[in-house]
Amino acid sequence: MILFKKAAELDRYLAGKRQKGIDTGFVPTMGALHEGHISLIRESRANCQLTISSIFVNPTQFNDSHDFEKYPSTIEPDINGLEAAGCDVLFLPSIHEIYPNGTDHLPIYQLGYLETVLEGKFRPGHFQGVCQVVDRLLGIVQPGQLFLGQKDYQQCMVIKKLVELTNRKTRIIICPTLREKTGLAMSSRNMRLNSEEKEKALCIYNTLRFLKQELKPGYQEDLKERAVNYLTAEGFRVDYIEIADAGNLELIRNWDGSTPLVALIAAFLNEVRLIDNMILTMES
Ligand code: AMP
Repeated sequence: MILFKKAAELDRYLAGKRQKGIDTGFVPTMGALHEGHISLIRESRANCQLTISSIFVNPTQFNDSHDFEKYPSTIEPDINGLEAAGCDVLFLPSIHEIYPNGTDHLPIYQLGYLETVLEGKFRPGHFQGVCQVVDRLLGIVQPGQLFLGQKDYQQCMVIKKLVELTNRKTRIIICPTLREKTGLAMSSRNMRLNSEEKEKALCIYNTLRFLKQELKPGYQEDLKERAVNYLTAEGFRVDYIEIADAGNLELIRNWDGSTPLVALIAAFLNEVRLIDNMILTMES
């Protein structure tokens, strides 16, 4: 695996690869890697000749500075894990490489409805930050394919919109959420949970399964309220539990019985904010 710290050097290296017609896959991350990240590397390797990953904890997407400061960092095992998974190139930039002119006058992206709901509503500015860093990374890497995790469902939609807005040719591939055997969605933030909290965190997955089991056409308020009450009684501070159109994230109050649905949850367990989602209208 070749490691680059400078954008210009990576750009030069990849320009040579592109000239030779080599198709590239890109897996951007914030590090503290787990099997979920590695599954994206595997998917890229299965579909592309050259796999590039990046590790950069992007300050502009953290609306909460405490969350940014506490974000886990495990750089050495990350590098070893990427190498073992067969990643070809790692981009490990400093903040100056990503934002050479500082962070005060970055572009604003017209994300519309998507940034007014769910994560957009509860983390103001978060998706602008995501777009700032992803736009910059896509500009440097110019990948043929971009591999993202369904774990961050709304983020996948935002990045699809970003790619449209910026007329990039990159194809977006959304990969399934990897879970622990228990069902808990793998997440870098799980590293901040002790073993008791990890067990407790399973309640989020159980709530998604409950919503899937109990879903019926008609009004969804009662079902969502039962879900909020359950998580609250288990000691979570719920930001939202929503049922939305899986295609555009429009929140569904009264389900027609056929629109594909996704359930999305964000909740704090003590200091740690966890998110998860599940498609409700398919088998499995
Ligand atoms: P992050 O490091 O949290 O920014 O995540 C980097 C990429 O890994 C994003 O596309 C995430 O959606 C994806 N990812 C995070 N957790 C998982 C998981 N449990 N399964 C699959 N992909 C994941």
